Amino acid sequence: MLTTMNISEKTQQYLTQEEEFGAHNYHPLPVVLDKGAGVYLWDVDGKRYYDFLSGYSAVNQGHCHPRIIKVLIDQAQKLTLTSRAFHNNLMGEYAQYITAYFGYDKVLPMNTGVEAVETALKLARRWGYEVKGIPSGAAKILVCENNFHGRTLNVISFSNDPSAQINYGPFMPGYEIVPFNNINALQDALKDPNVAGFLIEPIQGEAGVVVPDEGYLNKAAALCKAANVLFIADEIQTGLGRTGKLLACDHEEVRADIVILGKALSGGTLPVSAVLADNEIMMLIKPGQHGSTYGGNPLACAVAIEALKVLKEENMCENATVQGDYLRSQLIAIGSPYIQLVRGKGLFTAIIIGHPSLGQDAAMDLCLKMMENGLLAKPTHGDKIRFAPPLTITRSQIDECITIIKKSLDQL
Ligand code: PLP
Repeated sequence: MLTTMNISEKTQQYLTQEEEFGAHNYHPLPVVLDKGAGVYLWDVDGKRYYDFLSGYSAVNQGHCHPRIIKVLIDQAQKLTLTSRAFHNNLMGEYAQYITAYFGYDKVLPMNTGVEAVETALKLARRWGYEVKGIPSGAAKILVCENNFHGRTLNVISFSNDPSAQINYGPFMPGYEIVPFNNINALQDALKDPNVAGFLIEPIQGEAGVVVPDEGYLNKAAALCKAANVLFIADEIQTGLGRTGKLLACDHEEVRADIVILGKALSGGTLPVSAVLADNEIMMLIKPGQHGSTYGGNPLACAVAIEALKVLKEENMCENATVQGDYLRSQLIAIGSPYIQLVRGKGLFTAIIIGHPSLGQDAAMDLCLKMMENGLLAKPTHGDKIRFAPPLTITRSQIDECITIIKKSLDQL
């Protein structure tokens, strides 16, 4: 497919340069972008696309949101990094703002998503030993089958995706994988008194936007509570409006013991992540026992406050609900024999592509067709394509996107 595509000389130069000097740890679509605004991206030849990935949901507020960019520039001209060896004038304001916003006692700021996951896991183990009384070195964390929580050695230790793990061992012990969306399996696993925490994506993103049955999260949280186990919600991809609520756990009124945020916490401008918990958990980490040079830097604090304000003040959760429902209804209405399933919540949607007449790379082929027709999306795990546009998308823009998707399906 790639060889038959029309790639400009200019684009090819960028592709060749990156291929020659950059590690080959990703498999991007052959498009080179140099501008973004709202729901749109432009390539180096000036062609415009709808962004249906939003930087894996880091750009929920839309590309280069003017308010976020203004704060970023203003703060960048004043103070960017002090390290936590000293205080900065924004860390306290940010901590107060984000804890009030989500209703937790404390925040621990980090940078990338996986660092926040690591932080949450450290907190859970520490709580397991110091509060629950698990014997030293025996703490166990339950995780879900087909999870994705990032790429560190510890986090891939509990992945069941061979491509994440191959030849990276030995792996970190202390994790047990339970099937996602299976309450009985969780109940059984929780019988082990050494379980400190249950780590879960409320909707599994990388696995292909897998939405658990209604009531599962609520029951799982209740079981964890009864077993004296921390319920840890990785809301890095599902949080911050993506599913139509500030947190995906809010759909079932679940208040996680530990919440992990990342991605859209900076509106896609720089890596900002956070762990939220109440004092009895967060205060178990004492000075010098965990940290990060960039965590809580004033640039990140300023940007995160604005990114959170924008989400609320521009009603992005509400728009995600309305437009997400509309998007799924229109995808179903296309009635394509190639779309086997449409699923999702809010503007977190996936389609499953398949048909006896299609090859096994059909999802990738469709993404390449959509790219040619002006819409960018990427397959996840073979036959699934995630559709996650910025939360600012309008109904008429969705109509235009549906026309592009339909045309691309017809060209398969
Ligand atoms: N957790 C979830 C649910 C994610 O979707 C991701 C990234 O896609 C991560 C963790 C890791 O975040 P990062 O790539 O910023 O380390």
